[in-house]
Amino acid sequence: MARILQLPSHVVTKIAAGEVIERPSSVVKELVENSIDAGATRIDIDLDAGGTELIRVADDGCGIDPDDLALAFAQHATSKLTSADDLFAIGTMGFRGEALSSIAGVGKVTLQSRPPALASGCEVRCDDGVLSAPRPWNGSPGTRIEVRHLFYNVPVRKKFLKSIATELGHVCETVTRLALGNPGLHIVLRHNGKLVYEVPASAGLADRIGLFFGGEVREVLYELDSGPGRQRLVGFIADPKCDRGNARLQYLFVNGRWFRDRSLAHALQESYRGLLMTGRYAVGFLFLTVPPDSLDVNVHPTKAEVRFQENSLIYSLVRATVKARLLRENLVPYLAAPPGEPEGVSPRVSESDAPGLFSPRQHLADRTVAPWELPPAAWRAEPVAPPEARGADPFAGLVADRGPTLEPSPGDLRPSARPEIPPFPLPAPGTALQVHDSYLVLETPDGMLVIDQHALHERILFEQFRRRIRDGKLEVQRLLIPEPIDLPAEQAALVLEAADALRELGLDVSDFGGNTVLLSSYPTLLARRPPHEIFQGVVDYLLTKERPPTRDALLHDLTATMACKAAVKAGDRLTPEEITYLLHLRELAEDSHHCPHGRPTSLRFTRHELDKQFGRV
Ligand code: ADP
Ligand code: MG
Repeated sequence: MARILQLPSHVVTKIAAGEVIERPSSVVKELVENSIDAGATRIDIDLDAGGTELIRVADDGCGIDPDDLALAFAQHATSKLTSADDLFAIGTMGFRGEALSSIAGVGKVTLQSRPPALASGCEVRCDDGVLSAPRPWNGSPGTRIEVRHLFYNVPVRKKFLKSIATELGHVCETVTRLALGNPGLHIVLRHNGKLVYEVPASAGLADRIGLFFGGEVREVLYELDSGPGRQRLVGFIADPKCDRGNARLQYLFVNGRWFRDRSLAHALQESYRGLLMTGRYAVGFLFLTVPPDSLDVNVHPTKAEVRFQENSLIYSLVRATVKARLLRENLVPYLAAPPGEPEGVSPRVSESDAPGLFSPRQHLADRTVAPWELPPAAWRAEPVAPPEARGADPFAGLVADRGPTLEPSPGDLRPSARPEIPPFPLPAPGTALQVHDSYLVLETPDGMLVIDQHALHERILFEQFRRRIRDGKLEVQRLLIPEPIDLPAEQAALVLEAADALRELGLDVSDFGGNTVLLSSYPTLLARRPPHEIFQGVVDYLLTKERPPTRDALLHDLTATMACKAAVKAGDRLTPEEITYLLHLRELAEDSHHCPHGRPTSLRFTRHELDKQFGRV
């Protein structure tokens, strides 16, 4: 074994550079962050050949004192930290004092700088670790750094660089993050002398998003703000219709710094649950402000990850704020105009009409007993009276008065008291037409609505089910004789593993020995289908999961699965009362526009579109 040696400083620098400087975009990030720390209001970035040949960053910041120029290249030389305590309340982008020394270790650097108060500035060059003598420089106030021939002395790194277009792409991403994190900053990016981006200082956040991601995203943004507090979240999220196939348009910032965080990305994605199809990702630009001493930014070589002291609090803040914002929107999918036709601006229900997070409508919905809370026999056996005969109360024949005409059955869960009737008008029976036993067609003031009866009912059941679980008001029907269900061994084990979550959902399962589980209760709300059918849906769901889902995800997904199983199906003929009731509950739903799997429950055809199709306008 060779003897232990202390490494010479040029080797140490290259090792440090290996962590911090991976490609041209890393240099751009470090240099622009320095300019931001220097209080710059305008930063110009010039690249040649994707930054592999030249990176030049010029700012109008505070400049560097001529006496400090050489020191800027030294290892661990910084003006931003004085004691170790400062590390725990970082207010600047940089603080480790290793960027300039690292960059100078892997590229040929020229640094020119002039503090505004001085009549002239100074220039130094650093070539292969050798610093030139400072020379006077007469540029305008601020700092200008040029990095040429990146990795000229690290052939391995150079080999790993990708095409010019790819490297430029990485720089654009870096500039995007810096421009989003610093509204008010004028940033210009040029490549081979051609302008790539110019972001004026006056461009606010939404305009910046539009500039980088196009009008299509800009137009569907919803602004959010959690309100003042120790932690605050502001930013924009996009309408679910503007979803993406990956999470690249999910941007997180804390105290102006971009970072990545799987848990918070999850919180964002979770807030869109039910609004996005599987495999689709939300678009969001979230800006957190937290006290600097509750944040550790010194946990990752390029500071791309951070650690929050109050991790779960931040998670909840993101989830609750995004979710509440989405609930304020009435998210109806619109029929896309035929190709070549401009798509009409989606009319939206005004905010005051849209249900809030704790909308009184929800409570009303909870107090209303739906026909499908009754067993299928009871529902189906109901004689359908003509609307006039029922007078003002369309439910008269459906819920309260139906007892005497029915044989009581073990599954009969009829509420003993007459349910409260909501005090607002219901769609008159007969205004909706059922077609193909699958869709309901409804006239609306501005056109017509085609509703998928299964998707809508699924959504309604899902919401009721979820609310009752949340409020601890889930009614459970115990089976007189528990139902033994035979399953293959691994399925039985899966079910028993999930027994606690299933109990919260009203499904009581226990081990009956062998490969049999015993089902002894089920939720009343889903009484429309036989318990074992619902249970089978649950087993099928558990089988599709490779890894055990989190409790929340399990509850959500199972609620959706069970609602799906229990809902009316495509192909079920509905009575006028059932149609009326579905439409009535549609009004009460939090999000009546998507089934829990994210598919639309209804499509809107505007009168204008119809007129256009028929050549009337
Ligand atoms: P850090 O940013 O972590 O302090 P750097 O190696 O990036 O370390 O920079 C070293 C020092 O050089 C900074 O602390 C700062 O004082 C100075 N400096 C670098 N770039 C600029 C700039 N554009 N304007 C003013 N000062 C700068
Ligand atoms: Mg720095």
